[in-house]
Amino acid sequence: MSSRTPHRAVVQGVERLSEHLLRLELETDGSLVSTGVPDEWLALTVPGQFQTRYYTVRSLVDRRLLLDVVVHDVGLVTAWAQTDCVGDEVGLGVPKGSYAPPADAGWVVLAGDLTALPAMARIAEQETLPLVVHAESADAPLGGYLPEATTWHHAEPGESRLAEVVAGLDWPEGPGYFWMAGESAQMRDIRRHCRRDLGWDTRHHEVMGYWSGSRGRQTRQVDPGPIYARGRALGHSEEQIWAAYDAAREGDRHG
Ligand SMILES: Cc1cc2nc3c(=O)[nH]c(=O)nc-3n(C[C@H](O)[C@H](O)[C@H](O)COP(=O)(O)OP(=O)(O)OC[C@H]3O[C@@H](n4cnc5c(N)ncnc54)[C@H](O)[C@@H]3O)c2cc1C
Repeated sequence: MSSRTPHRAVVQGVERLSEHLLRLELETDGSLVSTGVPDEWLALTVPGQFQTRYYTVRSLVDRRLLLDVVVHDVGLVTAWAQTDCVGDEVGLGVPKGSYAPPADAGWVVLAGDLTALPAMARIAEQETLPLVVHAESADAPLGGYLPEATTWHHAEPGESRLAEVVAGLDWPEGPGYFWMAGESAQMRDIRRHCRRDLGWDTRHHEVMGYWSGSRGRQTRQVDPGPIYARGRALGHSEEQIWAAYDAAREGDRHG
């Protein structure tokens, strides 16, 4: 057990919701407690790995946790989720959330790509303010997943055009709250648009980069695999292995 993922859970089932979206049903060890914030996320570590990836808590009822996982062309969790992972034990981090409409908000607009769907679905279930949803996906619209009035925008995997979509939106009257998540470069453009063109302060919008389109093209400077295997063979704890990995990365940066 690592301090980054102090909770454990076992995969009970995997369901395909659409071409690129898988639902994992997990049974937790009972120690995981929801923050109640509807976009809450946690770190996930899959077997044989000590790198984490972030996933939204789609729902947590008693010990039953649902995570909706987008599968990409390649990827650590992507690859694992498509194996026969039922029965596998995973590590989970402490949930954190950031969705917080200010008291003067009279409306909410949500926008995001497939990775943001779980958060948008949970926000839509809990939010009582008038709500508009824009979802970008390569898959056919997922019936029943988001409110019926959701506008679906098609984009091929890895080719998000959300910045363009958001730049063309008409906003409701008065103060409100705009929540959005997706590819980091798109999110940077949108954040700029919100501040400079729309003049919103940070209380009235939350724009989060959920993944980076450029990261995959960079060479990984330090391969964690051999460090993990060596650490395990030596009987080191996850904490010690993490420290060795961080030290190796630090050495690589300065070397
Ligand atoms: C707060 C937060 C909440 C999140 N919630 C969810 C969630 O509920 N469900 C979910 O599926 N994801 C979610 N994400 C995004 C997820 O953490 C990343 O997409 C993650 O990189 C996927 O891990 P992987 O191991 O499959 O791929 P990685 O090993 O991280 O990446 C492998 C390759 O895939 C590319 N890649 C990664 N993500 C995408 C993508 N979305 N589209 C196209 N290419 C991609 C990378 O650029 C890289 O080339 C969330 C992220 C954050 C920060």
